[in-house]
Amino acid sequence: MLSRRVDLRSDTVTKPTEAMRSAMATAEVDDDVLGVDPTSFWLESEVAKITGKEDGLFVSSGTMGVHSRPVKNNEDGTMDIDSIEAAIRDSRGELLYPTTRLICLENSHANSGGRCLSVEYTDGVSELAKKHGLKLHIDGARIFNASAAPGVPVNRLVQAADSVSVCLSKGVGAPVGSVIVGSKSFIAKARILRKTLGGGMRRVGFICAAAFVALKENVKKLEGDHKKAKVLAEGLNQIKGLRVDVETVETNIINVDIVEGSKFTAEQLYKNLEEHGVLVVPRGAIQHSESPGGLNKNDSIYQIWKFNGTYQTKIRIVLHHQISSSDVQYTSSCFQQAFPGCKNKMATKLETDTLTIR
Ligand SMILES: *Cc1c(COP(=O)(O)O)cnc(C)c1O
Repeated sequence: MLSRRVDLRSDTVTKPTEAMRSAMATAEVDDDVLGVDPTSFWLESEVAKITGKEDGLFVSSGTMGVHSRPVKNNEDGTMDIDSIEAAIRDSRGELLYPTTRLICLENSHANSGGRCLSVEYTDGVSELAKKHGLKLHIDGARIFNASAAPGVPVNRLVQAADSVSVCLSKGVGAPVGSVIVGSKSFIAKARILRKTLGGGMRRVGFICAAAFVALKENVKKLEGDHKKAKVLAEGLNQIKGLRVDVETVETNIINVDIVEGSKFTAEQLYKNLEEHGVLVVPRGAIQHSESPGGLNKNDSIYQIWKFNGTYQTKIRIVLHHQISSSDVQYTSSCFQQAFPGCKNKMATKLETDTLTIR
């Protein structure tokens, strides 16, 4: 049995804290579909306040009902304004395609390794949206990370957006849900659509209570997560056989490349790390559609992944508030043992620290 588990698969793997659990146990609830659940109202108002929008709506998932036309993004998470403009569909004469009504940005941008979009860029896209009579939505699944990293308040970051979705179950650490915010009339419409999609949840205050605690407890910890991510990124980049573009680690996500000619594929490295209790995500591997289900606590999670040959060099690491500095050092030393004979000063130092701290 493993004595230690460091779960770096995602910022969605955190467990609710004691404070969240007790807030759930004592939450004041009523039927939210009738619009009378006090705790959901409380949470929605709080997120609206933080984002500087009129109103908010708690949804079971931030991915409810979206149709999109993706535009290729740059490495820093931005899309070229020209490319966005070229993708805007004119309603006239285009019977077969939906009319473009909305531009969506994601901040921070997960697939680029958690890169942050600047206020200037967002405002620039907003100008384009205005020029074409479109609305601007920000997928702010990790907007608190995007705010903490450059130290720009959330309400300024999303000022130019008509609507924002804020995921509470990522780095914020709530058990479930997102809140979408926007104008009062937009949220009134969203409330109807949410019900249409089967998203009306009666005593939803129970999960909102935990989310409220998560907001209060964990947003302030994100900066620490970012610092730890940087330290880990630097440590890993020192290991011969691995490469991390440390400069681009702006928030809590680290993309690690296994360099060509290295002894490991991502699959082998993944397995090796899991044997030491360190869980990461092999990028490019996909989850088996037939999930094994019912995994026991100490079962290998290896079996859920379907590794494919094309992406055998990339893994992803995500920090969150339940990863301590000592976990970071332990993780670094686990990577180091996988690449023996490639020791260097930094890695040796981390190993020594691990011995003293554990
Ligand atoms: C997680 C996530 C969402 C949706 O969040 P839910 O967990 O479904 O509420 C939306 N966009 C991005 C980029 C995300 O990472």
